[in-house]
Amino acid sequence: MESLKFIFVTGGVMSSVGKGIVSASIGKLLQSAGVNVYSVKMDPYVNVDAGTMNPFQHGEVFVTEDGGETDLDLGHYERFLNINLSREANITTGLVYKNVIERERRGDYLGQTVQIIPHVVDEIKRLLRKNLVSSKAEVQIVEVGGTVGDIEGLPFLEAIRQLRMEEGYGNTLFVHVSLLPTLEVTGEIKTKPTQHSVQELRRIGVQPDVIVARSREPIGDQVKEKLSLFSSVPKEAIFSSYNVKSIYEVPLVLEAQGMGSYVMRRLGLSATNSDAGAGDHMGSWRSFVSNITGCDKEVSIYMVGKYATFQDAYLSVVEALVHSSAHIRVKPRLRWVESEAIEHTSAAEALREADGVMVLPGFGKRGTEGKISATEWARVNRVPFLGICFGMQLAVVEYARSVLGLDANSTENDPGTPNPVVDLLPEQGSVVDKGGTMRLGSYEVETVEGSIIRRLYGSTVIRERHRHRYEVNPAYVGRLRERGLNITAVSRVGARVEAVEIRDHPFFLATQFHPEFKSRPMSPSPPYLGFVKSIASAKHGVEG
Ligand code: GLN
Repeated sequence: MESLKFIFVTGGVMSSVGKGIVSASIGKLLQSAGVNVYSVKMDPYVNVDAGTMNPFQHGEVFVTEDGGETDLDLGHYERFLNINLSREANITTGLVYKNVIERERRGDYLGQTVQIIPHVVDEIKRLLRKNLVSSKAEVQIVEVGGTVGDIEGLPFLEAIRQLRMEEGYGNTLFVHVSLLPTLEVTGEIKTKPTQHSVQELRRIGVQPDVIVARSREPIGDQVKEKLSLFSSVPKEAIFSSYNVKSIYEVPLVLEAQGMGSYVMRRLGLSATNSDAGAGDHMGSWRSFVSNITGCDKEVSIYMVGKYATFQDAYLSVVEALVHSSAHIRVKPRLRWVESEAIEHTSAAEALREADGVMVLPGFGKRGTEGKISATEWARVNRVPFLGICFGMQLAVVEYARSVLGLDANSTENDPGTPNPVVDLLPEQGSVVDKGGTMRLGSYEVETVEGSIIRRLYGSTVIRERHRHRYEVNPAYVGRLRERGLNITAVSRVGARVEAVEIRDHPFFLATQFHPEFKSRPMSPSPPYLGFVKSIASAKHGVEG
Protein backbone atom coordinates (compact mmCIF):
# COMPACT_ATOMS: atom_id res chain seq x y z
CA MET A 1 0.00 0.00 0.00
CA GLU A 2 1.18 3.47 -0.78
CA SER A 3 2.28 5.46 2.23
CA LEU A 4 -0.02 8.03 3.72
CA LYS A 5 1.18 11.60 4.07
CA PHE A 6 0.47 13.68 7.14
CA ILE A 7 1.24 17.21 8.25
CA PHE A 8 0.83 17.61 12.00
CA VAL A 9 0.33 21.08 13.40
CA THR A 10 0.99 21.66 17.10
CA GLY A 11 0.72 24.85 19.12
CA GLY A 12 3.18 26.39 21.50
CA VAL A 13 3.13 28.86 24.42
CA MET A 14 -0.61 29.51 24.54
CA SER A 15 -3.89 28.85 22.80
CA SER A 16 -5.42 31.12 20.15
CA VAL A 17 -2.11 31.65 18.33
CA GLY A 18 -3.84 30.87 15.06
CA LYS A 19 -3.03 27.18 14.56
CA GLY A 20 -6.35 26.67 12.81
CA ILE A 21 -5.68 29.44 10.31
CA VAL A 22 -2.10 28.25 9.72
CA SER A 23 -3.35 24.68 9.19
CA ALA A 24 -5.97 25.90 6.72
CA SER A 25 -3.39 28.10 5.00
CA ILE A 26 -0.90 25.25 4.53
CA GLY A 27 -3.73 23.28 2.96
CA LYS A 28 -4.50 26.20 0.69
CA LEU A 29 -0.89 26.40 -0.50
CA LEU A 30 -0.73 22.70 -1.31
CA GLN A 31 -4.12 22.83 -2.99
CA SER A 32 -3.05 25.68 -5.22
CA ALA A 33 -0.20 23.46 -6.45
CA GLY A 34 -2.72 20.79 -7.39
CA VAL A 35 -2.41 18.58 -4.30
CA ASN A 36 -5.59 17.00 -3.00
CA VAL A 37 -5.74 17.78 0.72
CA TYR A 38 -8.00 16.96 3.64
CA SER A 39 -8.01 18.46 7.14
CA VAL A 40 -8.65 17.01 10.55
CA LYS A 41 -8.81 18.58 14.00
CA MET A 42 -7.97 16.62 17.15
CA ASP A 43 -9.43 18.13 20.31
CA PRO A 44 -8.16 16.96 23.69
CA TYR A 45 -11.37 17.68 25.61
CA VAL A 46 -13.46 14.79 26.94
CA ASN A 47 -16.74 15.88 25.32
CA VAL A 48 -17.58 13.41 22.55
CA ASP A 49 -18.29 16.36 20.25
CA ALA A 50 -18.57 20.13 20.47
CA GLY A 51 -22.39 20.06 20.43
CA THR A 52 -22.89 20.19 24.18
CA MET A 53 -20.44 23.00 24.83
CA ASN A 54 -21.38 26.55 25.64
CA PRO A 55 -20.22 28.86 22.81
CA PHE A 56 -18.55 31.04 25.45
CA GLN A 57 -16.01 28.26 26.00
CA HIS A 58 -14.91 27.27 22.52
CA GLY A 59 -16.83 29.54 20.19
CA GLU A 60 -19.33 28.46 17.60
CA VAL A 61 -20.34 24.86 17.04
CA PHE A 62 -19.67 24.23 13.37
CA VAL A 63 -22.15 21.90 11.67
CA THR A 64 -20.96 19.64 8.85
CA GLU A 65 -23.06 18.38 5.92
CA ASP A 66 -23.50 15.03 7.64
CA GLY A 67 -24.72 16.66 10.84
CA GLY A 68 -21.54 16.60 12.93
CA GLU A 69 -21.37 19.23 15.68
CA THR A 70 -17.72 20.13 15.48
CA ASP A 71 -15.00 22.54 16.47
CA LEU A 72 -15.04 25.89 14.70
CA ASP A 73 -11.66 25.23 13.07
CA LEU A 74 -13.44 22.84 10.69
CA GLY A 75 -15.25 25.91 9.41
CA HIS A 76 -11.91 27.56 8.61
CA TYR A 77 -10.77 24.43 6.76
CA GLU A 78 -13.98 24.24 4.72
CA ARG A 79 -13.83 27.93 3.81
CA PHE A 80 -10.12 28.04 2.95
CA LEU A 81 -10.12 24.77 1.04
CA ASN A 82 -13.62 24.94 -0.42
CA ILE A 83 -14.29 21.32 0.54
CA ASN A 84 -16.89 19.59 2.70
CA LEU A 85 -15.58 17.68 5.68
CA SER A 86 -17.17 14.72 7.37
CA ARG A 87 -18.10 14.73 11.04
CA GLU A 88 -15.24 12.27 11.48
CA ALA A 89 -12.78 15.06 10.74
CA ASN A 90 -13.10 16.13 14.38
CA ILE A 91 -11.50 13.64 16.77
CA THR A 92 -11.95 14.32 20.47
CA THR A 93 -10.65 12.52 23.55
CA GLY A 94 -14.28 11.75 24.36
CA LEU A 95 -14.83 10.05 21.01
CA VAL A 96 -11.58 8.07 21.23
CA TYR A 97 -12.38 6.79 24.72
CA LYS A 98 -15.99 6.08 23.77
CA ASN A 99 -14.82 3.85 20.91
CA VAL A 100 -12.22 2.10 23.07
CA ILE A 101 -14.64 1.52 25.95
CA GLU A 102 -17.38 0.24 23.63
CA ARG A 103 -14.88 -2.19 22.13
CA GLU A 104 -13.78 -3.31 25.60
CA ARG A 105 -17.41 -3.94 26.61
CA ARG A 106 -18.00 -5.97 23.46
CA GLY A 107 -15.06 -8.11 24.48
CA ASP A 108 -12.84 -7.20 21.54
CA TYR A 109 -9.80 -6.85 23.81
CA LEU A 110 -10.59 -9.99 25.70
CA GLY A 111 -7.83 -10.93 28.08
CA GLN A 112 -5.89 -7.72 27.64
CA THR A 113 -5.41 -4.86 30.07
CA VAL A 114 -6.77 -1.88 28.12
CA GLN A 115 -4.30 1.01 28.37
CA ILE A 116 -3.59 4.47 27.02
CA ILE A 117 -0.57 2.98 25.27
CA PRO A 118 -1.21 1.07 23.08
CA HIS A 119 -5.03 0.98 22.93
CA VAL A 120 -6.05 4.64 23.17
CA VAL A 121 -3.16 5.78 20.99
CA ASP A 122 -3.93 3.02 18.45
CA GLU A 123 -7.51 4.26 18.22
CA ILE A 124 -6.29 7.82 17.50
CA LYS A 125 -4.05 6.50 14.72
CA ARG A 126 -6.88 4.35 13.33
CA LEU A 127 -9.22 7.35 13.16
CA LEU A 128 -6.58 9.50 11.44
CA ARG A 129 -5.81 6.85 8.83
CA LYS A 130 -9.51 6.17 8.27
CA ASN A 131 -10.08 9.86 7.49
CA LEU A 132 -7.23 9.96 5.03
CA VAL A 133 -8.26 6.78 3.26
CA SER A 134 -11.93 7.70 2.95
CA SER A 135 -11.22 11.27 1.82
CA LYS A 136 -8.90 9.91 -0.91
CA ALA A 137 -6.65 12.91 -0.32
CA GLU A 138 -2.90 12.79 -0.91
CA VAL A 139 -2.08 14.72 2.24
CA GLN A 140 -3.94 15.10 5.50
CA ILE A 141 -3.32 18.15 7.65
CA VAL A 142 -3.91 17.31 11.29
CA GLU A 143 -4.23 20.12 13.79
CA VAL A 144 -3.57 19.03 17.37
CA GLY A 145 -5.81 21.15 19.58
CA GLY A 146 -4.58 22.69 22.83
CA THR A 147 -1.04 23.68 23.67
CA VAL A 148 2.03 21.46 23.91
CA GLY A 149 2.49 20.59 27.58
CA ASP A 150 -1.18 20.04 28.37
CA ILE A 151 -1.69 16.72 30.15
CA GLU A 152 -4.78 15.86 28.12
CA GLY A 153 -2.94 16.35 24.82
CA LEU A 154 -0.31 13.69 25.54
CA PRO A 155 -2.00 10.69 23.85
CA PHE A 156 -2.44 12.76 20.67
CA LEU A 157 1.23 13.77 20.61
CA GLU A 158 2.23 10.16 21.25
CA ALA A 159 0.05 9.12 18.31
CA ILE A 160 1.75 11.56 15.94
CA ARG A 161 5.18 10.47 17.20
CA GLN A 162 4.30 6.86 16.38
CA LEU A 163 2.87 7.81 12.98
CA ARG A 164 6.24 9.32 12.08
CA MET A 165 7.83 5.93 12.80
CA GLU A 166 5.19 4.02 10.88
CA GLU A 167 4.73 6.24 7.81
CA GLY A 168 8.33 7.46 7.62
CA TYR A 169 10.16 10.76 7.76
CA GLY A 170 9.47 11.60 4.13
CA ASN A 171 5.72 11.24 4.62
CA THR A 172 5.27 13.20 7.82
CA LEU A 173 5.92 16.78 8.75
CA PHE A 174 5.75 18.36 12.19
CA VAL A 175 4.81 22.03 12.09
CA HIS A 176 4.96 23.93 15.36
CA VAL A 177 3.02 27.19 15.50
CA SER A 178 4.28 29.22 18.40
CA LEU A 179 3.95 32.67 19.86
CA LEU A 180 6.81 35.17 19.84
CA PRO A 181 5.69 37.91 22.21
CA THR A 182 6.89 41.48 21.77
CA LEU A 183 8.00 43.35 24.89
CA GLU A 184 5.91 46.48 25.17
CA VAL A 185 8.69 48.68 26.51
CA THR A 186 11.52 47.86 24.15
CA GLY A 187 9.58 46.51 21.18
CA GLU A 188 11.85 43.46 21.29
CA ILE A 189 10.58 40.10 19.96
CA LYS A 190 11.25 37.31 22.47
CA THR A 191 11.99 33.73 21.48
CA LYS A 192 12.38 32.14 24.93
CA PRO A 193 8.77 30.89 25.35
CA THR A 194 9.03 29.17 21.96
CA GLN A 195 12.39 27.63 22.91
CA HIS A 196 10.68 26.14 25.95
CA SER A 197 7.74 24.80 24.03
CA VAL A 198 10.08 23.17 21.49
CA GLN A 199 11.93 21.56 24.40
CA GLU A 200 8.63 20.30 25.76
CA LEU A 201 7.79 18.78 22.36
CA ARG A 202 11.20 17.11 22.18
CA ARG A 203 10.77 15.69 25.66
CA ILE A 204 7.77 13.81 24.26
CA GLY A 205 9.84 12.68 21.31
CA VAL A 206 8.70 15.11 18.63
CA GLN A 207 11.31 17.28 16.95
CA PRO A 208 9.55 19.97 14.90
CA ASP A 209 10.50 20.19 11.22
CA VAL A 210 8.96 23.60 10.62
CA ILE A 211 8.27 26.52 12.92
CA VAL A 212 5.63 29.11 12.18
CA ALA A 213 6.47 32.03 14.42
CA ARG A 214 3.41 34.00 15.35
CA SER A 215 4.27 37.59 16.17
CA ARG A 216 2.99 41.13 15.91
CA GLU A 217 5.51 42.21 13.26
CA PRO A 218 7.40 40.17 10.66
CA ILE A 219 10.50 38.58 12.21
CA GLY A 220 13.98 39.37 10.94
CA ASP A 221 16.96 37.18 10.15
CA GLN A 222 18.49 37.48 13.58
CA VAL A 223 15.38 36.16 15.29
CA LYS A 224 15.19 33.32 12.76
CA GLU A 225 18.82 32.40 13.39
CA LYS A 226 18.29 32.32 17.11
CA LEU A 227 15.16 30.19 16.79
CA SER A 228 16.95 27.88 14.39
CA LEU A 229 19.91 27.42 16.74
CA PHE A 230 17.81 26.67 19.80
CA SER A 231 15.20 24.52 18.12
CA SER A 232 17.36 22.65 15.57
CA VAL A 233 15.04 23.69 12.78
CA PRO A 234 16.80 24.94 9.62
CA LYS A 235 16.41 28.66 9.06
CA GLU A 236 14.68 28.08 5.74
CA ALA A 237 11.98 26.13 7.62
CA ILE A 238 11.11 29.01 9.92
CA PHE A 239 8.23 31.11 8.66
CA SER A 240 6.79 34.28 10.03
CA SER A 241 3.07 34.67 10.56
CA TYR A 242 2.61 38.26 11.65
CA ASN A 243 -0.53 40.26 12.30
CA VAL A 244 -2.54 40.98 9.18
CA LYS A 245 -5.86 42.68 8.59
CA SER A 246 -7.70 39.57 7.46
CA ILE A 247 -7.21 35.88 8.23
CA TYR A 248 -7.49 35.27 4.48
CA GLU A 249 -4.12 37.03 4.01
CA VAL A 250 -2.25 34.34 5.92
CA PRO A 251 -1.81 31.93 2.96
CA LEU A 252 -0.41 34.84 0.94
CA VAL A 253 2.00 35.81 3.72
CA LEU A 254 3.28 32.23 4.03
CA GLU A 255 3.44 31.75 0.26
CA ALA A 256 5.55 34.90 -0.11
CA GLN A 257 8.13 33.20 2.14
CA GLY A 258 8.15 30.04 0.05
CA MET A 259 6.36 27.84 2.56
CA GLY A 260 4.31 26.00 -0.08
CA SER A 261 7.31 24.82 -2.08
CA TYR A 262 9.27 23.96 1.08
CA VAL A 263 6.49 21.68 2.32
CA MET A 264 6.02 20.14 -1.14
CA ARG A 265 9.73 19.34 -1.42
CA ARG A 266 9.95 17.95 2.06
CA LEU A 267 7.00 15.58 1.48
CA GLY A 268 8.15 14.59 -1.99
CA LEU A 269 5.10 16.10 -3.67
CA SER A 270 5.26 17.49 -7.16
CA ALA A 271 3.11 20.30 -8.39
CA THR A 272 0.67 18.95 -10.95
CA ASN A 273 -0.84 22.31 -11.49
CA SER A 274 0.73 25.64 -10.84
CA ASP A 275 -2.53 27.17 -9.79
CA ALA A 276 -5.25 24.61 -9.25
CA GLY A 277 -7.23 23.54 -6.24
CA ALA A 278 -10.92 23.01 -5.75
CA GLY A 279 -11.90 25.81 -8.05
CA ASP A 280 -9.98 28.40 -6.06
CA HIS A 281 -6.98 29.95 -7.68
CA MET A 282 -4.42 31.97 -5.78
CA GLY A 283 -5.05 34.82 -8.22
CA SER A 284 -8.72 35.07 -7.39
CA TRP A 285 -7.85 34.55 -3.72
CA ARG A 286 -5.58 37.57 -3.95
CA SER A 287 -8.32 39.73 -5.39
CA PHE A 288 -10.74 38.44 -2.77
CA VAL A 289 -8.26 39.55 -0.08
CA SER A 290 -7.78 42.95 -1.65
CA ASN A 291 -11.57 43.39 -1.73
CA ILE A 292 -11.67 42.70 2.00
CA THR A 293 -8.86 45.02 2.92
CA GLY A 294 -9.29 47.72 0.32
CA CYS A 295 -12.96 48.79 0.46
CA ASP A 296 -14.01 51.89 2.28
CA LYS A 297 -17.77 52.09 1.66
CA GLU A 298 -19.12 51.04 5.02
CA VAL A 299 -22.30 49.19 5.84
CA SER A 300 -23.10 49.03 9.49
CA ILE A 301 -24.80 45.84 10.53
CA TYR A 302 -26.16 45.44 14.03
CA MET A 303 -25.74 41.92 15.33
CA VAL A 304 -28.28 41.06 18.00
CA GLY A 305 -27.52 38.00 20.10
CA LYS A 306 -26.98 36.51 23.50
CA TYR A 307 -23.24 36.00 23.11
CA ALA A 308 -22.52 39.41 21.61
CA THR A 309 -19.51 39.91 23.88
CA PHE A 310 -17.82 36.88 22.36
CA GLN A 311 -17.92 37.03 18.61
CA ASP A 312 -16.31 33.63 18.01
CA ALA A 313 -19.72 32.30 19.03
CA TYR A 314 -20.97 33.46 15.61
CA LEU A 315 -17.83 32.85 13.55
CA SER A 316 -19.47 31.44 10.41
CA VAL A 317 -22.05 34.23 10.41
CA VAL A 318 -19.26 36.81 10.50
CA GLU A 319 -17.34 35.05 7.73
CA ALA A 320 -20.47 34.85 5.55
CA LEU A 321 -20.82 38.62 5.92
CA VAL A 322 -17.12 39.07 5.08
CA HIS A 323 -17.50 36.95 1.91
CA SER A 324 -20.64 38.79 0.86
CA SER A 325 -19.20 42.24 1.51
CA ALA A 326 -16.00 41.46 -0.40
CA HIS A 327 -18.11 40.27 -3.31
CA ILE A 328 -19.78 43.65 -3.74
CA ARG A 329 -16.82 45.63 -2.42
CA VAL A 330 -18.21 47.15 0.71
CA LYS A 331 -16.76 47.15 4.20
CA PRO A 332 -18.90 45.53 6.88
CA ARG A 333 -18.85 47.31 10.20
CA LEU A 334 -20.36 44.92 12.70
CA ARG A 335 -21.88 46.33 15.87
CA TRP A 336 -22.56 43.74 18.54
CA VAL A 337 -25.66 44.22 20.62
CA GLU A 338 -26.46 42.14 23.70
CA SER A 339 -30.10 41.21 23.23
CA GLU A 340 -30.69 41.55 26.95
CA ALA A 341 -29.42 45.14 26.86
CA ILE A 342 -32.21 46.06 24.42
CA GLU A 343 -34.70 45.02 27.09
CA HIS A 344 -33.31 47.73 29.37
CA THR A 345 -33.34 50.49 26.75
CA SER A 346 -35.32 50.17 23.53
CA ALA A 347 -34.67 48.80 20.08
CA ALA A 348 -35.06 52.31 18.64
CA GLU A 349 -32.30 53.52 20.94
CA ALA A 350 -29.99 50.53 20.54
CA LEU A 351 -30.33 50.18 16.76
CA ARG A 352 -30.66 53.86 15.81
CA GLU A 353 -27.69 53.87 13.44
CA ALA A 354 -28.16 50.44 11.92
CA ASP A 355 -28.12 50.03 8.15
CA GLY A 356 -29.14 46.42 8.62
CA VAL A 357 -30.07 44.14 11.52
CA MET A 358 -29.34 40.48 12.13
CA VAL A 359 -30.95 38.38 14.82
CA LEU A 360 -28.51 35.58 15.52
CA PRO A 361 -29.00 31.90 16.29
CA GLY A 362 -29.32 30.91 19.93
CA PHE A 363 -30.87 28.85 22.67
CA GLY A 364 -32.86 29.64 25.77
CA LYS A 365 -35.07 32.40 27.05
CA ARG A 366 -32.53 34.96 28.20
CA GLY A 367 -32.55 38.00 25.93
CA THR A 368 -35.36 36.77 23.67
CA GLU A 369 -37.61 39.78 24.32
CA GLY A 370 -34.73 42.01 23.18
CA LYS A 371 -34.40 40.00 19.98
CA ILE A 372 -38.14 40.26 19.38
CA SER A 373 -38.09 44.07 19.81
CA ALA A 374 -35.12 44.33 17.44
CA THR A 375 -37.04 42.35 14.84
CA GLU A 376 -40.13 44.50 15.24
CA TRP A 377 -38.05 47.65 14.89
CA ALA A 378 -36.45 46.44 11.65
CA ARG A 379 -39.80 45.29 10.26
CA VAL A 380 -41.70 48.49 11.05
CA ASN A 381 -38.87 50.84 10.08
CA ARG A 382 -38.18 48.97 6.86
CA VAL A 383 -34.54 48.31 7.74
CA PRO A 384 -32.97 45.28 5.99
CA PHE A 385 -33.26 42.26 8.25
CA LEU A 386 -31.82 38.77 8.32
CA GLY A 387 -32.80 36.29 11.03
CA ILE A 388 -31.15 32.90 11.42
CA CYS A 389 -32.66 29.85 13.12
CA PHE A 390 -33.76 31.19 16.53
CA GLY A 391 -33.85 34.52 14.68
CA MET A 392 -36.52 33.11 12.36
CA GLN A 393 -38.50 31.52 15.15
CA LEU A 394 -38.58 34.79 17.08
CA ALA A 395 -39.54 36.71 13.93
CA VAL A 396 -42.59 34.46 13.76
CA VAL A 397 -43.34 35.14 17.44
CA GLU A 398 -43.04 38.88 16.79
CA TYR A 399 -45.40 38.70 13.81
CA ALA A 400 -47.93 36.62 15.73
CA ARG A 401 -47.91 39.16 18.53
CA SER A 402 -47.88 42.41 16.55
CA VAL A 403 -49.95 41.52 13.50
CA LEU A 404 -52.16 38.63 14.65
CA GLY A 405 -52.56 40.16 18.11
CA LEU A 406 -51.85 36.86 19.85
CA ASP A 407 -50.23 36.33 23.22
CA ALA A 408 -47.65 34.13 21.53
CA ASN A 409 -44.24 32.64 22.22
CA SER A 410 -42.00 29.67 21.56
CA THR A 411 -42.41 26.86 24.07
CA GLU A 412 -38.63 27.03 24.46
CA ASN A 413 -39.11 30.40 26.19
CA ASP A 414 -42.46 29.79 27.82
CA PRO A 415 -43.69 26.19 28.00
CA GLY A 416 -47.15 27.38 29.09
CA THR A 417 -47.72 30.03 26.40
CA PRO A 418 -51.36 30.19 25.23
CA ASN A 419 -50.18 30.39 21.62
CA PRO A 420 -47.16 28.17 20.98
CA VAL A 421 -46.40 29.47 17.49
CA VAL A 422 -43.00 27.81 17.77
CA ASP A 423 -42.92 24.37 19.33
CA LEU A 424 -40.75 21.27 19.66
CA LEU A 425 -40.24 19.28 16.50
CA PRO A 426 -42.53 16.24 16.77
CA GLU A 427 -39.65 13.76 16.83
CA GLN A 428 -37.99 15.65 19.71
CA GLY A 429 -40.71 14.68 22.19
CA SER A 430 -39.02 11.44 23.14
CA VAL A 431 -35.45 12.76 23.10
CA VAL A 432 -33.69 12.51 26.45
CA ASP A 433 -29.97 12.80 25.65
CA LYS A 434 -28.76 16.28 24.75
CA GLY A 435 -25.72 15.24 22.68
CA GLY A 436 -26.17 14.94 18.91
CA THR A 437 -29.96 14.77 19.05
CA MET A 438 -31.10 17.99 17.38
CA ARG A 439 -32.26 18.13 13.77
CA LEU A 440 -28.74 18.33 12.41
CA GLY A 441 -27.00 18.70 9.09
CA SER A 442 -28.06 19.02 5.51
CA TYR A 443 -31.68 18.68 4.42
CA GLU A 444 -33.42 19.49 1.18
CA VAL A 445 -35.55 22.60 1.14
CA GLU A 446 -38.03 23.72 -1.52
CA THR A 447 -38.28 27.41 -2.32
CA VAL A 448 -41.47 29.16 -3.38
CA GLU A 449 -41.80 30.84 -6.75
CA GLY A 450 -41.67 34.63 -6.67
CA SER A 451 -39.93 34.75 -3.28
CA ILE A 452 -36.70 36.51 -2.33
CA ILE A 453 -35.17 33.20 -1.42
CA ARG A 454 -35.96 31.65 -4.84
CA ARG A 455 -34.43 34.68 -6.53
CA LEU A 456 -31.29 34.56 -4.36
CA TYR A 457 -30.60 30.85 -4.86
CA GLY A 458 -31.99 30.69 -8.37
CA SER A 459 -33.27 27.16 -7.76
CA THR A 460 -36.33 25.31 -6.59
CA VAL A 461 -34.52 22.81 -4.38
CA ILE A 462 -31.63 23.81 -2.18
CA ARG A 463 -29.64 21.99 0.50
CA GLU A 464 -28.68 23.77 3.69
CA ARG A 465 -27.47 22.75 7.14
CA HIS A 466 -29.58 22.73 10.28
CA ARG A 467 -29.22 22.69 14.05
CA HIS A 468 -32.45 23.03 15.98
CA ARG A 469 -35.04 21.32 18.19
CA TYR A 470 -37.98 23.67 17.64
CA GLU A 471 -39.96 24.68 14.55
CA VAL A 472 -42.82 26.94 13.50
CA ASN A 473 -45.95 25.21 14.74
CA PRO A 474 -47.85 23.94 11.66
CA ALA A 475 -51.15 24.73 13.44
CA TYR A 476 -50.46 28.47 13.05
CA VAL A 477 -49.09 28.48 9.51
CA GLY A 478 -52.48 29.15 7.86
CA ARG A 479 -53.23 32.17 10.07
CA LEU A 480 -49.74 33.63 9.71
CA ARG A 481 -49.98 33.31 5.95
CA GLU A 482 -53.41 34.93 5.77
CA ARG A 483 -52.08 37.93 7.63
CA GLY A 484 -49.17 38.45 5.25
CA LEU A 485 -46.26 36.45 6.62
CA ASN A 486 -44.93 34.63 3.58
CA ILE A 487 -43.65 31.12 4.11
CA THR A 488 -41.18 30.98 1.27
CA ALA A 489 -39.34 27.73 1.87
CA VAL A 490 -40.34 24.39 3.34
CA SER A 491 -38.44 21.18 3.94
CA ARG A 492 -38.96 18.54 1.25
CA VAL A 493 -39.71 15.95 3.86
CA GLY A 494 -42.29 16.99 6.42
CA ALA A 495 -43.04 20.42 4.89
CA ARG A 496 -41.47 22.25 7.83
CA VAL A 497 -41.20 26.01 7.68
CA GLU A 498 -37.69 26.82 6.50
CA ALA A 499 -37.96 30.52 5.59
CA VAL A 500 -40.27 33.46 6.13
CA GLU A 501 -40.39 36.82 4.34
CA ILE A 502 -42.42 39.98 4.42
CA ARG A 503 -43.51 41.80 1.31
CA ASP A 504 -43.48 45.55 1.16
CA HIS A 505 -40.17 45.71 2.88
CA PRO A 506 -36.74 46.35 1.31
CA PHE A 507 -35.40 43.03 2.64
CA PHE A 508 -36.90 40.94 5.39
CA LEU A 509 -35.81 37.31 5.33
CA ALA A 510 -35.39 34.76 8.08
CA THR A 511 -34.34 31.15 7.69
CA GLN A 512 -34.66 28.09 9.90
CA PHE A 513 -31.49 26.68 8.37
CA HIS A 514 -27.99 28.11 8.83
CA PRO A 515 -26.79 29.21 5.40
CA GLU A 516 -23.57 30.62 6.93
CA PHE A 517 -22.06 27.15 7.25
CA LYS A 518 -21.83 26.82 3.48
CA SER A 519 -20.58 30.31 2.69
CA ARG A 520 -17.22 30.33 0.92
CA PRO A 521 -14.85 33.16 -0.03
CA MET A 522 -15.60 32.84 -3.75
CA SER A 523 -19.24 31.87 -3.38
CA PRO A 524 -20.91 33.82 -0.57
CA SER A 525 -24.06 32.38 0.93
CA PRO A 526 -27.08 33.66 -1.06
CA PRO A 527 -29.17 34.97 1.88
CA TYR A 528 -26.17 36.85 3.29
CA LEU A 529 -25.23 38.23 -0.09
CA GLY A 530 -28.81 39.34 -0.70
CA PHE A 531 -28.95 41.00 2.71
CA VAL A 532 -25.66 42.90 2.30
CA LYS A 533 -26.61 43.90 -1.26
CA SER A 534 -29.92 45.33 -0.10
CA ILE A 535 -28.11 47.42 2.53
CA ALA A 536 -25.43 48.56 0.10
CA SER A 537 -27.90 49.56 -2.57
CA ALA A 538 -29.99 51.56 -0.10
CA LYS A 539 -26.96 53.26 1.40
CA HIS A 540 -24.45 53.62 -1.40
CA GLY A 541 -26.38 52.76 -4.53
CA VAL A 542 -23.99 49.79 -4.94
CA GLU A 543 -25.47 47.05 -7.10
CA GLY A 544 -23.83 43.64 -6.95
N1 GLN B 1 -33.22 27.27 20.08
C1 GLN B 1 -33.79 27.04 18.79
C2 GLN B 1 -34.06 25.57 18.53
O1 GLN B 1 -33.51 24.72 19.18
C3 GLN B 1 -32.92 27.62 17.69
C4 GLN B 1 -31.61 26.95 17.55
C5 GLN B 1 -30.59 27.78 16.79
O2 GLN B 1 -30.73 28.99 16.65
N2 GLN B 1 -29.55 27.14 16.31
O3 GLN B 1 -34.82 25.25 17.67
